[in-house]
Amino acid sequence: MAQLDTRAKLAILADAAKYDASCASSGTAKRHSRDGKGIGSTEGMGICHAYAPDGRCISLLKILLTNSCIFDCHYCINRKSSNVRRARFTAQEVVALTLSFYRRNYIEGLFLSSGIIGSSNYTMEQIVEVARSLREDHDFRGYIHLKTIPDADPELVHLAGVYADRVSINVELPTTGGLKRLAPEKSATQIEGAMGKVAHDIADGRDARKRYKSAPKYAPAGQSTQMIVGADAATDRDIVGKASTLYDRYGLRRVYYSAFSPIPEASAVLPLQRPPLMREHRLYQSDWLMRFYDYRADEVRAAADDATGMLPLDIDPKLAWALKFRDRFPVDVNRAPREMLLRVPGLGVKAVNAILTARRWRRLALADVARLTVSIAKLRPFLIADDWRPVLLADRAELRPVVAPKKADQMELFS
Ligand code: SF4
Repeated sequence: MAQLDTRAKLAILADAAKYDASCASSGTAKRHSRDGKGIGSTEGMGICHAYAPDGRCISLLKILLTNSCIFDCHYCINRKSSNVRRARFTAQEVVALTLSFYRRNYIEGLFLSSGIIGSSNYTMEQIVEVARSLREDHDFRGYIHLKTIPDADPELVHLAGVYADRVSINVELPTTGGLKRLAPEKSATQIEGAMGKVAHDIADGRDARKRYKSAPKYAPAGQSTQMIVGADAATDRDIVGKASTLYDRYGLRRVYYSAFSPIPEASAVLPLQRPPLMREHRLYQSDWLMRFYDYRADEVRAAADDATGMLPLDIDPKLAWALKFRDRFPVDVNRAPREMLLRVPGLGVKAVNAILTARRWRRLALADVARLTVSIAKLRPFLIADDWRPVLLADRAELRPVVAPKKADQMELFS
């Protein structure tokens, strides 16, 4: 590997990291250094947010330790057979960069991943060493997210959670068949085994904190994962099903969906075109429905087209579900339970909470609901209010064009 200065390495390794979508810093413990001790804070004020060229928010210093890799995953620009310029940081270089960027207020923390160099254990040791040194040698209190390597020694993976706020293990592809085909050196069993171990360690850490206040926090921001969308033949139904299983089994904080983007000198087994970015957006909306709107996975899956298994791109999955199951509507805003109000397209969680509070004291008319939403015209076919009953509209076969957003007027889940 040619000798490169820090700036050149940073250019290569920050660019190589942009394909990883799972870098949100939400949900961690609050820490700060306002008392003059330590450095850094997870509280976010005064932090510059950076954006990758594809628009994703990367307020963390988001880099790879190295973009060299002994594996050859077809979808990855850093794979062994890829003809890209390689670079490698030492652990101490990453520590120095994180501290200097933090002091300049460029970042709120570090997101560190890596190609596999030498062996999974060696690479994991180096990743853990960065976090250890930041925490123990420099008393760094900012946010750290470490990507872990599923086939590394479980003790090393455990140490990642000792120092990091969040750890993640990429499930990579929604189906075992897709993983076998596109990442033949990876094993679905190993990936999920490692996720299970991290989930267990997080639960242990929480138990210990309940019993002893002084017990150290273990991965307080939990674990997350990322799935690549559109690199294999998996349908949206497959993806929603997989995400739901991962949430249930491993208590993940987040599943990130990353629309596959064709890479330079792509492997011949990959599709030539990236899936529409809207597909990624619709999957995030489905995820939101499961996490905040109490939809079961099978309900979200039912919103997909029966022939293709794909969610519609022109309308959000909540509206798609409502149109498909019109017999569940209209919903009486003065009597319906919370779970049915949450299913009304255009009513967000806040609006539903406000409705539930207000109707304890009086009956609600359409105008009352209108004050809680962006467009009452789009809700009307799905609601009964004190002065409104949409019998004709709800029965109209051509309801979809009435409620589907015009291009410049996207109907959102969370009005
Ligand atoms: S192991 Fe990770 S870095 Fe290496 S080729 Fe596979 S996805 Fe890329």
